[in-house]
Order: sequence, then C-alpha cells, then structure tokens
Amino acid sequence: MKALTAASLRRRIVDVAQRLRAQELVVGTSGNVSAREPGRNDCWITPSGVAFDRLQPNDLVLVDLDGQVRDGTLTPSSDTAVHLAIYRSRPEVDAVIHTHSPYATAFAVVQLDIPPVLVEAAGFLGGSVRSDGTIGRDRAVLLPNHGVLAVGETIDAALAAAVMVEHMARVAFLASLLGEPHHVPKTEIERMHAFLHTEYGQR
Ligand SMILES: [Zn+2]
Repeated sequence: MKALTAASLRRRIVDVAQRLRAQELVVGTSGNVSAREPGRNDCWITPSGVAFDRLQPNDLVLVDLDGQVRDGTLTPSSDTAVHLAIYRSRPEVDAVIHTHSPYATAFAVVQLDIPPVLVEAAGFLGGSVRSDGTIGRDRAVLLPNHGVLAVGETIDAALAAAVMVEHMARVAFLASLLGEPHHVPKTEIERMHAFLHTEYGQR
C-alpha cells in the first residue's frame, strides 16, 4: 500500500475520530487518536478539548517523539505522552487510539481481562485483553478504571482493534448472563492471528 501523505493521513484521523464518536466508543471530548507516517519521528494527534464530531484536519497537532509541538495551533491531547511512549518503543506501530467504549470500560472498572470468546476478535487481538494497563507487545490493553488503548501498524488496524475490543467485551458480558462462556482454544487463536495478520493482510 502506498504511504499516506500528511494531508490524507490527517483526513483519515478525522474520519476515524468521527467513526469512534458515531459508534459511541468515545463520549463528550474524551478519547484521542494519533497516527504517524511510517518511519517518521513525529505523529499527528487529536487536540485536547475538541469533540470528535466537530474535529477538522487543521485541528490536529504534529508532535515529535520528544513531545515538542511541530505544527498546529491547538494544545495536543492530554494523553500525548502515552502515545509517544508507544511510538518510541514500538517502531511497527503507526497508530494509537484511546477510547472509553462502555463494555470494555466496564471490564476495566472491575479490572477483569476480557476473555477470548470470539474466534475472529481474539485472533485479531492475539487472545484476551489484559486489564493491567501495560500494553507490552499487545494490540490492545485496558487502562484500569479508565478505558481502552488500541494500536496498529495502520490507523485502520488500530480502529479494527478498538472496535473488536468493544465487541468482544460486549459479547463476553452478554454470554456470561446466559452461562459459562467457553474460551477460544489457544491453537485456534494462533491460527486465526497468523491468518489475519499475514495471508489475509497481503491479499
Ligand atoms: Zn481517557
């Protein structure tokens, strides 16, 4: 895939932010989205205090990995340091999304891992979604009493992770009302993970 230019990357960030808002994965002015052009030492991030349904490409702020603002007039998200720490430690990650999506956040509030109950979501995410706030090499993590952090090699992959975290949390919650949810076996998670992130992605 051809690399996105800065202008198209900014439009894509706004698109994704508006989708998060429309799907109610964020509320009010909460949540934030950032993305970087591959190989660069900076990222575009959503500003602090602007609701995503009003967000414009010109509102985004370019911040280098040391936290210096390089472009834009607004104040970058209050969670910028979290995004920058991920970019510094994970060169393969080019997008970070933070949401307060309600079912996943409910798991974060009771500090319970979201169990791997769906083949596709658990496969994409690589298993359960841990609730300890430490993302490590994972695609998503729950921030205790707060929300969700999801990352990806592209902004679409980060969006898919954020959406799948919420979907798996919702289904796990509903299933638990009916009975004891069965977890997807580890071998099946690994098979699906390889399929979704290699063969499928290269088609
Ligand atoms: Zn938050």
